[in-house]
Amino acid sequence: MSQPIRGAAQRGVGRLATASYAACVEVTVVGAGVIGLATAHALEEAGHDVRVVAAATGETTTSSVAGAVWFPYRAGPPEKVARWAARTRAWLTELAAADPAAGIEVLTAYEIDGAPEGAVPPWWAAGIEVERVPAPVAGAPLAWRFAAPRAEPARFLPWLAGRLRRPIERRSVADLAAERGDVVVNCTGLGARALVGDAQLTALLGQVAIAAPGAVDRRVTVTDDRTPDRIFYLIPRRDELVLGGCSIVHDGDVPAADASLRARIVAQAAALGLAIGEVSCDRVGLRPFRPEVRLERQGRVIHNYGHGGAGFTLSRGCAEAVAALL
Ligand SMILES: Cc1cc2nc3c(=O)[nH]c(=O)nc-3n(C[C@H](O)[C@H](O)[C@H](O)COP(=O)(O)OP(=O)(O)OC[C@H]3O[C@@H](n4cnc5c(N)ncnc54)[C@H](O)[C@@H]3O)c2cc1C
Repeated sequence: MSQPIRGAAQRGVGRLATASYAACVEVTVVGAGVIGLATAHALEEAGHDVRVVAAATGETTTSSVAGAVWFPYRAGPPEKVARWAARTRAWLTELAAADPAAGIEVLTAYEIDGAPEGAVPPWWAAGIEVERVPAPVAGAPLAWRFAAPRAEPARFLPWLAGRLRRPIERRSVADLAAERGDVVVNCTGLGARALVGDAQLTALLGQVAIAAPGAVDRRVTVTDDRTPDRIFYLIPRRDELVLGGCSIVHDGDVPAADASLRARIVAQAAALGLAIGEVSCDRVGLRPFRPEVRLERQGRVIHNYGHGGAGFTLSRGCAEAVAALL
């Protein structure tokens, strides 16, 4: 065991209630997407001695492509996801108030799901205040309204990395067991398919269009999943809009953006009466989907991957679950 350290844990926001400097563990976190960074951050807050190793950082991760709004989408199992998501929501909300540099704002979210008046709240809503209200867009009668923190990956990922005690080591890992430390945390997202041969992990392609803010209310995010294979969402950032989307099983590398998909998304925005600005580019990413997030310990290795379309939404809840496994 290594010696206790004083590092980012001292500067932490929303520290782990269980933080203890008595049981400092030397940890290698593999992966520097939102899952690896949030895990490393939580473990440092808990007083552990953490190093992060990653093949890629920033713009080349799936995390950089995300709309990054809080919304439990394409992740399981439901009961754990609801619990991890609720914890992450509280953490992100706290960060939004504590430090604007983290790139987080709490938006008013509307989910249009086509359910009738009197429908039961969504499966993820235990302990979360949701209201059934008129939808704020054309052609849709009712929506669930709730408060949803939204991160901007281009601000939030460097913010998390910048709070770690050590710089990220850039290299590919071929064997988790060969990594140093008392514990190795596997946060490699889709990379876990090759790294640990996980056949349950599949890639769900997502594509978003980035547009100028236009006349859209930037305090409001809208998801329309009345037709799941034509899901639409609008996620405002400080200076731009993210418009999606899709979720398509995909084999192979990240493909080029599909122009017809962009056209469909823009047409949906128009049909809902959303006055978006000009589209400047598209982003494509592969969500690391697994029927159930893998969060378990096997000897020295703790796995934390397979968060599908909800990596930002589950990041802190899962990080704290990892901390509990130390
Ligand atoms: C279009 C789109 C929109 C999305 N919108 C949202 C949203 O609004 N809200 C939300 O919560 N989620 C959203 N998601 C999902 C979210 O992006 C993912 O769940 C999340 O990024 C997964 O994070 P990760 O850290 O597991 O993976 P990644 O970001 O892919 O990071 C994996 C890391 O592991 C490293 N790695 C992999 N293999 C190795 C290896 N062998 N050796 C060393 N390093 C390795 C990589 O280099 C990288 O650093 C969206 C995804 C897409 C594609």
